[in-house]
Amino acid sequence: MKGSMMEFKHFFVLAALLFSMPSCTDGNRNAQDSGKKYPFNDPSISIDERVGNILELLTLEEKAGFLSGESMWYLHGVERLGIPEIQVTDCGHGVTVILDKEGAYSGCATCFPTAVAQGASWDRELVHNIGAALGRETRALGSSILLAPMVNIHRLPIGGRNYETFSEDPFLTGKLAASFITGVQSEHVGAVIKAITAYNQQKESRSMARVSERALREIYLSAFRMAIKDANPWGVMTAYNGVNDHPTTESKHLLSEIVKTEWKYEGFIVSDWRAVISSKSITAGVDIEMPGPGKFMDTDDILKAIEDGLITEDEVNNRAGRYLRALVKSKLLDIPRPVLNSASNTPEHHDLAREAAEGSIVLLKNKDGMLPLDKKDIKKVAVFGPNAEEARLGGGGSASVTACYTVSPLKGLRDQIGQSAEITFIEGAALTGNLPIVPGRYLTTEENGNTVNGLHGEYFDGPNLLGEPQCSRIDDNIDYSWGWAAPCDYVTKNGYSVRWAGKINAPESGVYEIGVTVNEGGVRLFLDDKLVIDEWGDPGNEITEARFVYKSKSIEFVMERGSAHDIKVEFHKKHNKNAIRLEWKLPNVKSAIEDAVKLASASDVAIVFAGLSNLIEGGNNDKESLNLPGEQDKLISSIARVNPNTVVVLINGTPVTMPWIDEVKAVLEAYYPGQEGGNAIARVLLGEVNPSGKLPDTFPIKPGDCRAMQTYPGENGEMEYAEGIYVGYRQFEADHMTPLFPFGFGLSYTVFEFENLVVEKIGAQKVTVAVDIINMGKVAGAEVVQVYIRDIMSSIDRPIKELKGFDKIFLQPGEAK
Ligand code: BGC
Repeated sequence: MKGSMMEFKHFFVLAALLFSMPSCTDGNRNAQDSGKKYPFNDPSISIDERVGNILELLTLEEKAGFLSGESMWYLHGVERLGIPEIQVTDCGHGVTVILDKEGAYSGCATCFPTAVAQGASWDRELVHNIGAALGRETRALGSSILLAPMVNIHRLPIGGRNYETFSEDPFLTGKLAASFITGVQSEHVGAVIKAITAYNQQKESRSMARVSERALREIYLSAFRMAIKDANPWGVMTAYNGVNDHPTTESKHLLSEIVKTEWKYEGFIVSDWRAVISSKSITAGVDIEMPGPGKFMDTDDILKAIEDGLITEDEVNNRAGRYLRALVKSKLLDIPRPVLNSASNTPEHHDLAREAAEGSIVLLKNKDGMLPLDKKDIKKVAVFGPNAEEARLGGGGSASVTACYTVSPLKGLRDQIGQSAEITFIEGAALTGNLPIVPGRYLTTEENGNTVNGLHGEYFDGPNLLGEPQCSRIDDNIDYSWGWAAPCDYVTKNGYSVRWAGKINAPESGVYEIGVTVNEGGVRLFLDDKLVIDEWGDPGNEITEARFVYKSKSIEFVMERGSAHDIKVEFHKKHNKNAIRLEWKLPNVKSAIEDAVKLASASDVAIVFAGLSNLIEGGNNDKESLNLPGEQDKLISSIARVNPNTVVVLINGTPVTMPWIDEVKAVLEAYYPGQEGGNAIARVLLGEVNPSGKLPDTFPIKPGDCRAMQTYPGENGEMEYAEGIYVGYRQFEADHMTPLFPFGFGLSYTVFEFENLVVEKIGAQKVTVAVDIINMGKVAGAEVVQVYIRDIMSSIDRPIKELKGFDKIFLQPGEAK
């Protein structure tokens, strides 16, 4: 959220939790000390002994109960033994399930860069630290299990959930996932690696993937296997799709033969939410059906399965034991209960969010040393693009984090150089919508007796603007796509409404077009107290509300230059892809791009923040195209034509085409950089930070360059993985095709040299690779050493190269390591 907070209910939670403290904040519910101490409460005996003891104490019915969840976000407990129900939450870049006593979603968390950005960091330590911070936030916000990391391979450059996962490469993915899991679990919070497997698209997402066993093993299962071996996550989550004849929730081959037997995995396998579609999951190897109550694996279903001879009591013990193992590891059963780390939304986590964003930004182009910008030389900075004034935190869907605050790129720049340079923003091209956004400088309101830019926003629980606002603040402008997250702390994401009020100021005289674009919500616009747009509908009525799926409305309104008119916008949320923009068209401006070009030509530097958002990718959607949506490509080219110092910063989860690449001087790929992204980007642009990210994906020139796209989205409920193991760079190299930018690519403000490469064979199976790396430039920086191998003697077809080692090395100028 933008703007300054005028009032908010709490800022951060930092608590060390003791057993005697209220259960709501320590990852469990009803964790009453049953008054008795059992052997399983004794932390000094082994996990197996403790699990064995619990199983002895439980009835068959109680054990069967563990095979499905208790409710949407809770796993079963057993009150009589003091075994707590525990809460679970998404996701890999922030905690999303924060519940108040009534079970309504409330509160906020630190939002870190999403997994694809973490992938671009190539930094195991950083990813470990993010995992550990998320472990602490998970506990502080009431859960004990984090449903992350997601490690599905980026098979398609349009994949809707790619932003939630690390990379196209199994090795990079597997190693970073292991670091993430080790981080989370170092805080005694469980990680659940997901979603096994070949779950690579959102369109027809429940279809059957037809994948060769080899591709399954080398590409789609590899990261799971590696992370399970290296980091032993407490849980594994199945996917929605099917693989080779069976829904993954019913695949005995996958779950029982490969994961449990071959990999000797001892943790639990949980279904994705509502992915279990028949009782076949019981025999296939799913240990917990979620959410609860189970539809096919409820207590009665399991008891009946025992009666029918489908499953034995020993097997039920094994299934329940897998979950109990996690419970023991959580330390929630220890008496006395140890003091565990618990922290959310702390200054340390904010700093880590910024460092993570800084470490993952990739410098793709830097002609004539355009970057970093020299503060002394730039007096007039023109900022454009749909991702400048709004901090985009990720794609859509369950991984939507309600951040406690956000820093947009524009704010980050203003905070860094606003004193010494004049920074002007014009959107120029929208991601969605009909007209340009009304920039904050033409909106005013009163704050503590002063006139300030922006509108006064009041956020109400419920859809009807009733009662006292839960939070109120100044919003720079109205351009929000909250998606599944809440707009602010203490407003439940289930249903809320917002009222913005202030003045709209006219920079020129004439007929303005003023309007709103909304998605999945109702809206009313008042000008000078007159209702001019009414698309409010009945928030409770599904049928009426269907008309609020994406719509733009505008009216003509006459304003005299220098005049200020009362404006009020009211909005209520419906469904999960809700978004709203307040837009206008100035009387004498033919097009938004023309307006932008005028500003660009009178500025020292033009920075375009382009990209995607949760309205374009995620939340059940793949991207429809590789192109930047709307008129962004045209905007960039038009600006580059009049300003030779044009820089593009991309904020997105998946690769985009760049028809303007030769026209601009510099390009940064920032991915979804989290709540501190604006500060991180500004620091990279200004050279406070030297970019060191490397692409975790190949950027194709056009969609057809990826073989996998040729069979997308599949036919008759089947998705043919005809490309086999040739995914990402493996395919580009096999096909001798030049990508727009290759996997592993990323520039720096300094220059590194590699010397003395030594490859030493150790026994029959191992080699070590050593190399000296020297920072030859004038600034500190980090380089990622990447080791690829090729099997030159293979009797079967193998990729030209495969990543098998990497390390991020930080070097001062002149330093060698
Ligand atoms: C998503 C999972 C998520 C679960 C719980 C599902 O729809 O696919 O990734 O963990 O919901 O929110």
